[in-house]
Amino acid sequence: MKIIDLRSDTITQPTVAMREAMFRAEVGDDVYEEDPTIKALEEKGAALLGKEKSLFCPSGTMSNLVALLTHLQPGNEFIIDYRSHIYQYEVGGCAALVGAIPHTARGDRGHLTARNIEAAIREENIHYPETKLVCLENTHNLAGGTVMPMAQLADVSACAKEHGLKIHLDGARLFNAAAALNLPAKDIAQYVDTVNICLSKGLAAPAGSLLCGTEEFIVKARKKRKMVGGGMRQSGFLAAAGIVALEDMTERLLEDHALAKKLALGLAVIPGVILDPAQVETNIVKIDLAESLDAETLVASLKENYGVLCGTAGKNSIRFVTHYQIDEAGIIATMDAVKELLTAKA
Ligand SMILES: *Cc1c(COP(=O)(O)O)cnc(C)c1O
Repeated sequence: MKIIDLRSDTITQPTVAMREAMFRAEVGDDVYEEDPTIKALEEKGAALLGKEKSLFCPSGTMSNLVALLTHLQPGNEFIIDYRSHIYQYEVGGCAALVGAIPHTARGDRGHLTARNIEAAIREENIHYPETKLVCLENTHNLAGGTVMPMAQLADVSACAKEHGLKIHLDGARLFNAAAALNLPAKDIAQYVDTVNICLSKGLAAPAGSLLCGTEEFIVKARKKRKMVGGGMRQSGFLAAAGIVALEDMTERLLEDHALAKKLALGLAVIPGVILDPAQVETNIVKIDLAESLDAETLVASLKENYGVLCGTAGKNSIRFVTHYQIDEAGIIATMDAVKELLTAKA
């Protein structure tokens, strides 16, 4: 049985060009700032995001953690959508390791509005923590790969500035947002102070993320990264693949989006599936199931009987993610499998 793995775009395998680049990479000790390939990747990333500097981190989780450690002091508050990755899926690092307090708000399809921020900011009062930072996520993972509208981002940015707040953008899938908007990534990043991008998701590098910001910020962030154990040595081998990811893999993300749309259109007509294909903007397809159907059972049957791997996203929903290792045949097979399973149940 051929396996069709739609659990996540993190499962992507490095390309042949990446493997060759890794084999040939010139490396040095990056804690001494002597790794030329790391330097080349960091320069390329900063330029693509329109920031002065960038810092290679082993994972997106560490990149976000280092950003929070650099932006915030213990006891500070930051405003964030309640479904954000930083709040939901980073093991509470903001509390355990930063000592900061998240002030959650309900964004619009995952994206904070200027109203959300106005409502969450605290005035000066002896009882209150100080609000310092706004965290955004684009595309928004748990909301289903949604893209933040540019006008909303501009509003949020102006609002944060007016109140003296910085903005950190978790752009694990920023290049998916850029592709969907048909804009360079830096046109989005211009509205935020710092941004994390993941090389290891749809861009298919084996590991790594880049934290981008001003030179002053990145100098401080480098020290925080060392503190949490992210100072790596000959990490240029990973950076070599990251350079290929930035050069070869951003343009093709639209192919993932087209397959996600195709899957959404196919699934939406199956009885028992609740989904509006118009809401599928990038490479994530989240479906809700009619009440009588249990997501976990369906996910298990898809795996056992059809070799289709996907994940639950709550008791009644399932998430499919398209990526470099998924082709049209895999999408058709997935639609057929879901249809057969749900028809058998009806
Ligand atoms: C995957 C992801 C991260 C974390 O990246 P890791 O490399 O898995 O630690 C952060 N934010 C979002 C939105 C993600 O999807």
